[in-house]
Amino acid sequence: MSVASSTADVLVVGGGPAGRALAAACADRGLATTLLDPAPRRPWRSTFAAWAGELPPDLPADVVASRSTGRAVALGEHRLGWDYAVLDTPALRAHLDDAMDRCGVRVVTGRAAAQLSPYRVAVTGGDAETVTARVVVDAGGHRRTLGTGPWRTRARAEQTAHGVVVAAAAAAPLVPAGEALFMDWRPDHGARGWPTFLYGVPLGDGTVLLEETSLARRPGLPLDVLRDRLHARLARHGVPVPADARIERVRFPVDTPRDSRAGILGFGAAAPLIHPATGFSVAAALTLAPRVAAVLAESLADGSTGAEAVARADREVVWTPAARAVHALRRRGLEALLRMPAEDVPAFFDTFLALPAPHRWAYLTARDDLGATLAAMTALFGRSGWALRGRLVGPSMLPPAPALPPDPGADRAPGAAQHRYRR
Ligand SMILES: Cc1cc2nc3c(=O)[nH]c(=O)nc-3n(C[C@H](O)[C@H](O)[C@H](O)COP(=O)(O)OP(=O)(O)OC[C@H]3O[C@@H](n4cnc5c(N)ncnc54)[C@H](O)[C@@H]3O)c2cc1C
Repeated sequence: MSVASSTADVLVVGGGPAGRALAAACADRGLATTLLDPAPRRPWRSTFAAWAGELPPDLPADVVASRSTGRAVALGEHRLGWDYAVLDTPALRAHLDDAMDRCGVRVVTGRAAAQLSPYRVAVTGGDAETVTARVVVDAGGHRRTLGTGPWRTRARAEQTAHGVVVAAAAAAPLVPAGEALFMDWRPDHGARGWPTFLYGVPLGDGTVLLEETSLARRPGLPLDVLRDRLHARLARHGVPVPADARIERVRFPVDTPRDSRAGILGFGAAAPLIHPATGFSVAAALTLAPRVAAVLAESLADGSTGAEAVARADREVVWTPAARAVHALRRRGLEALLRMPAEDVPAFFDTFLALPAPHRWAYLTARDDLGATLAAMTALFGRSGWALRGRLVGPSMLPPAPALPPDPGADRAPGAAQHRYRR
């Protein structure tokens, strides 16, 4: 069915967390806003988490399902010094949908298929054939909805994880009450090959999500490898997994290049707001959405064209010069990690986790504070041994790490522990 299309101020393509937050914020600023998504009523299934201090202060309390003390294990144990928040996914969705309804966002079902002109997008499979808007935002996730580029066909560095949800009491040997396990690098899965860690977070309903995670590999470590390692690790710690345990599968790229398309504003994972070292983007999207909306509203009110408004929001909020520089440094860090021998990875994280809290916080969250990011990297370098220093600096003189075989047999082979955990 085709419905008459009217011209909006802002078209947000993609109704994930980033798209909905931005659409609501734009409409709240008085902009006529349309959200386009192929399945706008489909529920979200992912478990989203963030550092508690990174979330917008006005996020309603019921959107946070649990808040716990952050802990990590590399060669030894580390207290992060700040809280970790797991979001209640349906509550987050309801919060954003309520805001969109309240402010009058027009929701259109359909898939953006092509950009016909700077202000006109062709739509397939839904209730419109085209949507016209002064500003077009691509919040369509890591695949980006409009445009091409050689990066799309290259092997991607991906974060992958396989998780199960178990009763909190069962998970207690690994995730004691009141704590969130950000990473546990102990090789208790008993496998050789690509390094993986356990991530364990309370979901706030008496259950805990336990996920064997590959932070980044090009391409991503296969999910069945992670599943086998997770079950081996949990068995070793006496954590039973019921046959009907809920499963979470994670796969998304962490090396999407910075969006430089003219006339379209990339937002959320499309920008990408994804931190290459953690895979986090949701807190950044929720925080930046009102700031992007404010710049778009001001620019359009000043009589700027849509393209000028997009360029200003990009330059002043999403990709400030500092944010570009920080992103480039984080990408170098990712390439260093991708080239690091498996046996050195836990020692690297041990060095990172032992840094003073302000440095760790800056590296993990300060997306447009170049000085703080450089200070954190300098401190890490200063505390590293010569071998690790070489591993950190060397890759910056090399091209991106080459793609590995998609499904390496070595990753499945049982073997001895690879590193010296201080038990
Ligand atoms: C299982 C899992 C767990 C994760 N956990 C975390 C976490 O704890 N913390 C965190 O910060 N990040 C996490 N991530 C990363 C996560 O992908 C992103 O952070 C987040 O979903 C990005 O939000 P987004 O709105 O930018 O994109 P998405 O959530 O990917 O939403 C994109 C939307 O665009 C729509 N779309 C796609 N193509 C088109 C088109 N052509 N036209 C119109 N619409 C289109 C899609 O239907 C979708 O609704 C996780 C990812 C997964 C898969």
